Amino acid sequence: MRILVTGGAGFLGSHLIDRLMIADHDVICLDNFYTGNKQNVLQWIGNPKFDLIRHDITEPIRLEVDQIYHLACPASPVHYQYNPVKTIKTNVLGTMNMLGLAKRVKARFFLASTSEVYGDPEVHPQPESYRGSVNTIGIRSCYDEGKRVAETLAFDYHRQNDVDIRVVRIFNTYGPRMLENDGRVVSNLIVQALKGVPLTIYGDGSQTRSFCYASDLIEGFIRLMNCDYVGPVNIGNPGEYTILQLAKTIQEMVNPGVALKFEPLPQDDPRRRKPDITLAQKLLDWEPTVPLQEGLSRTIADFRQRLGSEVVASAVLR
Ligand code: NAD
Ligand code: UDP
Repeated sequence: MRILVTGGAGFLGSHLIDRLMIADHDVICLDNFYTGNKQNVLQWIGNPKFDLIRHDITEPIRLEVDQIYHLACPASPVHYQYNPVKTIKTNVLGTMNMLGLAKRVKARFFLASTSEVYGDPEVHPQPESYRGSVNTIGIRSCYDEGKRVAETLAFDYHRQNDVDIRVVRIFNTYGPRMLENDGRVVSNLIVQALKGVPLTIYGDGSQTRSFCYASDLIEGFIRLMNCDYVGPVNIGNPGEYTILQLAKTIQEMVNPGVALKFEPLPQDDPRRRKPDITLAQKLLDWEPTVPLQEGLSRTIADFRQRLGSEVVASAVLR
């Protein structure tokens, strides 16, 4: 098949492209390199089955493809809040452009939505039927509401124009290739521990998240794309940890001597989050297989290699 991956040079997009290339598909990676980079797909450049297009999805594009995995959108609060209006344009205009493309060429369209559509949830864990508690005017709204509109657009194109859609709601995912300055908690804490600077904990660290390793998530993507159910389907790891527990785990694994530093909790930071994955288990026979410690070890190894001489001596290999 000929498959388009928007945001393909980013963290998750590049892992997805690896899987699709290994399965012998023709893959087009489309990216504006805002938070992605060529390095992530370097191994495929020059391969006759791979194309890389620098393009911003807020502008339309004409391509002939069978499937579209639509991932283009900055995912880290630091990056999506840097230019919030652009984030909304990416989610709304960008998603409309990609749905328009899917409609024209009759491609199956996969939307990378997010657990952020549940906002600061009053229901725990969060099933797909929960409609969410989202602030429309806060600093996270450009992303949360942008993704909610993206879901609405996908379902309206489906009902009105018969576009064949799949919608996944992704919960916090981590792994190799996250940017050093990504700003999300797992990469921040690992980079800080390797550099020997205090680990930043926002608030008192009692808020929770559930962390899924990238390869588990990508397996869920591929199963959902190739099944008959349109979604939305939660994909995430139900193992729930407080941020303080995560920080202590990384401190222990990388650099026990490094300090913890408490900083103010950002506005609208969700108190807790954990996916209900009953639907994915039943429908896709999917569940995560990589435990947190193992996923963290692999991610730490990747950062250790990329940071090279910036890694302090106290960050010993264990
Ligand atoms: P990422 O920031 O590493 O990747 C996003 C990619 O999209 C980057 O390569 C970026 O350059 C590209 N991009 C951004 N705006 C664009 C535009 N206007 N035009 C073209 N390309 C653009 O983030 P990620 O973690 O790989 O996330 C991928 C997708 O998954 C995003 O849609 C994100 O919202 C969603 N998601 C991720 C997580 C997670 O924990 N990683 C959780 C929920 C949802
Ligand atoms: N966080 C933290 N220290 C950091 C970065 C993030 O304590 O250096 C907290 C953040 O306030 C949130 C949680 O970790 O409660 C997850 O943040 P992240 O940005 O990774 O994802 P999201 O909030 O979008 O789930």
